[in-house]
Amino acid sequence: MSIVILRLPDVKRKTEIRPQECPKCGGEIFQRWGKVRKPVRDNRYRSVQVYRYRCCSCRLTFRHYPEGVDRADQTQRLRKLVALGWVLGMSLRGVVTFLSAFGVTVSHMTVWRDMQEQAKMLEKRRRWQPVRVLGVDGVYLSEKGKKRPVLIAVDLGNGQPVAIGKVDESNPQAVRRWLEPLVKRLGVSVIVTDDLLSYRVVAEKLELEHQVCQFHVRRWVGRTLSELRETVPKDWLWVLDDVKHLLEELPPEGSTRLFEMWKQIPERQVGQSGSRSPLVQLRHLLIRLSERWHKYRVFAWQEEVPWTNNGTEQTIGRMKVRSRTVRGYKSWQGMWAAFQLTGSGVSW
Ligand SMILES: [Zn+2]
Repeated sequence: MSIVILRLPDVKRKTEIRPQECPKCGGEIFQRWGKVRKPVRDNRYRSVQVYRYRCCSCRLTFRHYPEGVDRADQTQRLRKLVALGWVLGMSLRGVVTFLSAFGVTVSHMTVWRDMQEQAKMLEKRRRWQPVRVLGVDGVYLSEKGKKRPVLIAVDLGNGQPVAIGKVDESNPQAVRRWLEPLVKRLGVSVIVTDDLLSYRVVAEKLELEHQVCQFHVRRWVGRTLSELRETVPKDWLWVLDDVKHLLEELPPEGSTRLFEMWKQIPERQVGQSGSRSPLVQLRHLLIRLSERWHKYRVFAWQEEVPWTNNGTEQTIGRMKVRSRTVRGYKSWQGMWAAFQLTGSGVSW
């Protein structure tokens, strides 16, 4: 999903096209009212020509800018180029140095502002785009030298970043407070997450279909199985093999088969030390997997639902890479912009 699509805005040195309507009264008849040479910061031009017009209805005089130019002294192309440099891994000062090689002088504060502006534009554009399948995952990212729990949401249909919040994923109330407005606004019907209790609680409360990432399930079940392989009586090793096989195949009848195995294993009392015997642990694993089985295979009957949360993890991966190159984020604003800009790879 990290396709690089670079569409830099065009910049014209002048325009002969007359304005459509007066910005104040909507009038459509104008007189030319002189021209000015506007100095700009741009990778190609040092200045552009701007005509002034006077509205014949309300007599307002105003500047009519050529394509790619507005009131700012940087052209739209340069602003995007600046943000792009940052997205591709340069620091604020790195971008300053990079542009100076082309004879363009900008300050590192300008770079910061440009990057924030681009991030806001992207967020605005995505704000009301409906999302059917939402990937959600938590991560610790460093901000001002401290690790902060962050929750991120990604549209798994197109890989675009959706939201980032200061939320600890292990807190169900906090996850719900954050997720509920998003789900309502975007019309989400399926979430994809790892196997945490808080996500199960929230999915149920918000009546969402819930696909549990199978990478996570295989990881923790794999660990549990290899521990049990050392401790479970030999007669029951076949159960471990069957569980492993079921998770690889994810058949519809998996839940029933796990339940059948659970019934076959005799119930034992808790060991003297209070620890659970290996067979009790195995029964526990079987019933747990059996009960959650439907959450493992939502992808099999719901369209466009992936069987892992890989799309969300890729976004997190890119944010971590960015975090390393800038030696940790200096502020929440920086982290937020990184999410908006680098979250989907370079595709704006
Ligand atoms: Zn007017």
